[in-house]
Amino acid sequence: MAIQTINPFDNSVVKKYTEYTDEAVDQKIATAHEAYKIWKDTPVADRAKLLAKISELLLQNKKKYAQLITLEMGKLIGESEDEIDISAAIFKYYADNAEKFLEDKPFEVEEGKAYVRYTSIGVILGVEPWNYPFYQVARVASPNVAVGNVIMVKHASNVPQCAQAIEDLFIEAGAAEGIYTNLFISSKKIDKLAQDNRIKGLALTGSEEAGASLAESAGKNLKKSVLELGGSDPFIVLDDADIDNAVEQAFNGRMKNMGQSCTAAKRLIVADAIADEFLEKFTKRMSGLKVGNPADETTEIGPLSSEDAVKKLAEQVKDSIAAGATAVLGGKRLERDGAFMEPTILTNLKPGMRAYHEELFGPVASFYRVKDEDEAIKLANDSEFGLGGAVFSKDIKRAERVALQIETGMVFINQPTASSPELPFGGTKRSGYGRELSSLGIEEFVNKKLIRISGN
Ligand code: NAP
Repeated sequence: MAIQTINPFDNSVVKKYTEYTDEAVDQKIATAHEAYKIWKDTPVADRAKLLAKISELLLQNKKKYAQLITLEMGKLIGESEDEIDISAAIFKYYADNAEKFLEDKPFEVEEGKAYVRYTSIGVILGVEPWNYPFYQVARVASPNVAVGNVIMVKHASNVPQCAQAIEDLFIEAGAAEGIYTNLFISSKKIDKLAQDNRIKGLALTGSEEAGASLAESAGKNLKKSVLELGGSDPFIVLDDADIDNAVEQAFNGRMKNMGQSCTAAKRLIVADAIADEFLEKFTKRMSGLKVGNPADETTEIGPLSSEDAVKKLAEQVKDSIAAGATAVLGGKRLERDGAFMEPTILTNLKPGMRAYHEELFGPVASFYRVKDEDEAIKLANDSEFGLGGAVFSKDIKRAERVALQIETGMVFINQPTASSPELPFGGTKRSGYGRELSSLGIEEFVNKKLIRISGN
């Protein structure tokens, strides 16, 4: 993919970038490696100061960064500002907690003493997606920088201005060159980077294909990887749920980021007893939304991230309808310039249809009616993905019982899947492995080094 900014509101090419040469990349790895030698021995408190400064600068320049996000991938401007807020919160969280998380962990022994010290391992390569250009990077950069690693990021090709802005932000906050490095490279170069001895770990957030490819490169070189991949989260509404609240939360969960979130409420699984009322209210909620420029604060439906994204989604929907699904709302791309998709609700979905099995990355909700709790759990688990999920019920014990049977990395009760700095985020099955955020996120790329002191 060419490295360029294309505004998905009108598909105009705004800015093009040239890929770095192999020599330039090699030089950047050398700089990162040198920076690591100093950074690893820098006291945690000083590393935390850098993270706190980054957090501060993000908030001070929120509008500037939010505008870049909206320009490059079409996010509604208010949501772009929210993204800067949570990114700043993540940097602040690790600034505030790194020392505590990295304290030595004692182990009980019969005589003497034993503990584990968390030590850094080196240069980490992150491969990141366009859907949350700042937040995804914050998740991988802040814990690694806190632990004493340094980080190089190959960002998605369609958000180069965001990618550059993050590197500039680190420098502005006082980071030495090489602590954070932006790499304008094609994904074809990842395998070669994985072979480089100076790179010690690889993290990717993105599609299954990209994840499998990166994991293969990491595996061949005996390097650890963390994968945050796609999802098709179930959103289960039990028969005793507060229907109006569930409808509103389903709308928020499905439509946030114009439906382009890994943890969006992609499959609405509703108990038969309340299914008609839920569908009627949900259809009403999804209807009549104001379409327009995402940079305009009053817009409710903006474009998807790119022309390719809307084409793929419209195809998935078209193929599912051809196979027998019903679009009770929408079903096509919007007839206007830019990468716009109609808000869509699909029903009558069956195994074998694309919408049943594939991740739908946009404003398309799949609606399923189930007779009871057991059928809801069975359907929720009939997916190759295992990222997040939600259960709605007034009976918390019952909701918990259902949640514990769902095969995903995260389940939320009476709210859609969400993310916050203090909670671990990640999946199971084909949604990947490893965790980001919280105290777990800082433990992925570290050496848990045992020190055993004999008592004799
Ligand atoms: P993508 O195509 O996989 O792109 C993600 C990143 O991987 C980009 O930087 C991309 O570079 C790179 N890439 C593409 N092919 C690669 C390969 N073969 N080897 C190494 N790197 C490669 O993902 P997307 O479709 O744009 O992004 C959306 C996906 O990410 C969805 O499936 C979504 O669910 C998932 N996601 C998961 C999480 C999570 O935390 N679990 C969070 C957000 C998104 P180029 O841009 O140059 O192709």
